[in-house]
Amino acid sequence: MSDDAKPKTTRLLGGISLNFIPAAGDGSVPAGQAIAAGTGKPVEARVVIVGSGPAGLTAAIYAARANLEPVVLGGIAAGGQLMITSDVENYPGFPDGVQGPELMALFRKQAERFGTRIVDADVERVDLGERPFRLWAAGVEYRAQAVIVATGAEAIWLGIESETRLRGRGVSACATCDGFFFRDKEVGVVGGGDSALEEALFLTRFASKVHLIHRRDAFRGSKIMAARAASNPKIELHLNRTIEEVLGAEHVEALRLGRTDGAGEERLPVQGLFVAIGHRPNVAVFRDSLDTDEKGYLKTGGATTASNIDGVFVAGDVDDHRYRQAVTAAGEGCRAAIDVERWLEAQEAHAANVATAGAATSR
Ligand code: NAP
Repeated sequence: MSDDAKPKTTRLLGGISLNFIPAAGDGSVPAGQAIAAGTGKPVEARVVIVGSGPAGLTAAIYAARANLEPVVLGGIAAGGQLMITSDVENYPGFPDGVQGPELMALFRKQAERFGTRIVDADVERVDLGERPFRLWAAGVEYRAQAVIVATGAEAIWLGIESETRLRGRGVSACATCDGFFFRDKEVGVVGGGDSALEEALFLTRFASKVHLIHRRDAFRGSKIMAARAASNPKIELHLNRTIEEVLGAEHVEALRLGRTDGAGEERLPVQGLFVAIGHRPNVAVFRDSLDTDEKGYLKTGGATTASNIDGVFVAGDVDDHRYRQAVTAAGEGCRAAIDVERWLEAQEAHAANVATAGAATSR
């Protein structure tokens, strides 16, 4: 029996009527029932959303308001990159700015208000070979007619202790997000690719001086961007240099630089450090099933958020290495939920037609 053909109960939640599908004949548990109960049985959902950053939770808000009863497998570190961002001043609707974790708490509250079930567990394994799709998280199996992958991307960090300690206190991986806070200050940017060149050029709008630090004697990024950076009077190049330590007790005060072309160290006074050595999309459990581009990001087809697997959709930074903003991720989450809604409708209409035709021939 298709989900659509099952009898449904309706409950009112926050003024919105939600349809809860009763338990399936095979003993699986519908998503509307408490997942945390740990029945040991698979949890059924029309749509499972993987990821709880702006893309995943926006998809959840739209899917929930379309009565799709989404289940969000949000990850142990729920909330995405905004959870490690302090002031967010470019998210529309917050004229006085908002703290990243607070913004994500609001997204979450809004998604839950319409009946989204959020499970703070990492997806360990998936089987997207046939429908229902199957996903496993914290020992529970989830079965879904449609899946939205919104697992985001992570900035790659240098991996030194002082960088971690001063993250959000002068150390950042996003000039678009945090550059504004460094008006008339000196900042460092580390990296030699297009991201570092772009971040350095962008930061010249605010900073009094931008120190671009790269471990080799030539940039990996495009020639035109490298030439632009080299000729910008506000940018000072520090080639063949590595960052050994970020100095400062409460806030960034300076960098201890090492050399790759000889011995010796130097101290570079700066108030901020932007790490721009690349991003890594979180695709691990999907890599074997979903197509990725040459940079390892998930691919979507044409004008929609559809992936190469019918019924699996993709949203947010996991497929976007160009914009990487909370607001663009949220926009993509919205698109993915609308794509899912239309796709499920088409599937269910098709199943109903097949059933009608079957009934007519058996008469
Ligand atoms: P990338 O091209 O992979 O460059 C990473 C840079 O960081 C390299 O220069 C690398 O050094 C350096 N690096 C890596 N690990 C490091 C470490 N532990 N310590 C110090 N330096 C380290 O990454 P990206 O710049 O983010 O660019 C990713 C892709 O997006 C590229 O294809 C790029 O063209 C594209 N992109 C395009 C635009 C644009 O068109 N406007 C803007 C941004 C990004 P080595 O050079 O020594 O390897």
